[in-house]
Amino acid sequence: MKQPVYNFGAGPAKLPSPVIEQIQAEFLEFRDMGSSIIEISHRSKQFDDLLCETDELFAELVELPDNYKVLYVHGGASMQFSAIPMNLIQRKPAQKALYFETGNFARLSKEEAKKYGDIVTVASSADTNYDRIPEFNAADLDEDASYVYLTSNNTIFGTRWQEFPDTGDIPLVIDATSELLSRKMDFSKFGIIFAGAQKNLGPAGLAVVVIREDLLGYAMEQTPKLLNYDIYHQKHSLANTNNTFAIYVINLVLKWLKKEGGVAAIEKVNEAKAVRMYSLLDKSEFYKGHAQPAHRSIMNVTFNLPSAELLELFLKQSSAEGLTALKGHRSIGGVRASIYNAMPMEGIAALIDFMVEFERRNG
Ligand SMILES: *Cc1c(COP(=O)(O)O)cnc(C)c1O
Repeated sequence: MKQPVYNFGAGPAKLPSPVIEQIQAEFLEFRDMGSSIIEISHRSKQFDDLLCETDELFAELVELPDNYKVLYVHGGASMQFSAIPMNLIQRKPAQKALYFETGNFARLSKEEAKKYGDIVTVASSADTNYDRIPEFNAADLDEDASYVYLTSNNTIFGTRWQEFPDTGDIPLVIDATSELLSRKMDFSKFGIIFAGAQKNLGPAGLAVVVIREDLLGYAMEQTPKLLNYDIYHQKHSLANTNNTFAIYVINLVLKWLKKEGGVAAIEKVNEAKAVRMYSLLDKSEFYKGHAQPAHRSIMNVTFNLPSAELLELFLKQSSAEGLTALKGHRSIGGVRASIYNAMPMEGIAALIDFMVEFERRNG
């Protein structure tokens, strides 16, 4: 038998095996239509049914309050870095927004937003290469701001917000690309929560954007039609041909998650997976974790080895053993194990066995 491959890539990332198998099985013909999902009209009844079903599944899984809308928006997560200021910055006359800088994606979203308004950094952890979520002063959450923005899980550095700041009446906007549906979240605390699909949800190129209804209708005059959240809402995400295949895969992933017991159940599994990884790091003198323990992510585990030579050997040997895509992002180096919802416990066990053995031989 072929040795199993465990893909630890940060994104596009591993999807649940039953979902990949179902896509293959149904690819030639979608719902008795005689055509593939990528050959049918986005205006067909079958696609409309799929879209409505996807909305309902998502709402059920996250216990979405009624006053929130689910949008499927072009361009992945980074496109929302532009869409968010364009849709929200004019909510208040000051045209100001507050950003937490906790990693590369947080920094990039802040830089993009500067094109559209007065952007203030509330706090940053750049000084320690983003190994933590920074402290901040609640008095800095200025009521004149149109929104507060943060990245909930920092994919590259392996940190996350364990709890979210109380921003009072200022809408909180969250980039949850690398952790949406991996832990329970109270959506009523957010103005907007969005995620590029390619980490926990499906294929790249699309973002799921969940927006509180009262935040629709503030878009700047010059906002492109296909970045205007109000238009996505009015047209049920079909102002033009949307990425029908990606929505189909998201639908299957949501069904898989429901079958697995939903978000609370997968969160327990995710925590157990992360605990195994971190207890190995904590016991080891050889491997050194990047994130400060109180700020650790349960989706992306980052660590380094004692030397560049050992790192190279680790990456080469792990890959040869079917533990793939473990190389850390260039801005931090080292190793990153991305252990999203679809990574089974067996993958963690295989990685841990490899790490223990590698340390024994090289430590
Ligand atoms: C991967 C990632 C992005 C970038 O996603 P794209 O779809 O490539 O734009 C943005 N934010 C976070 C937190 C990510 O993990």
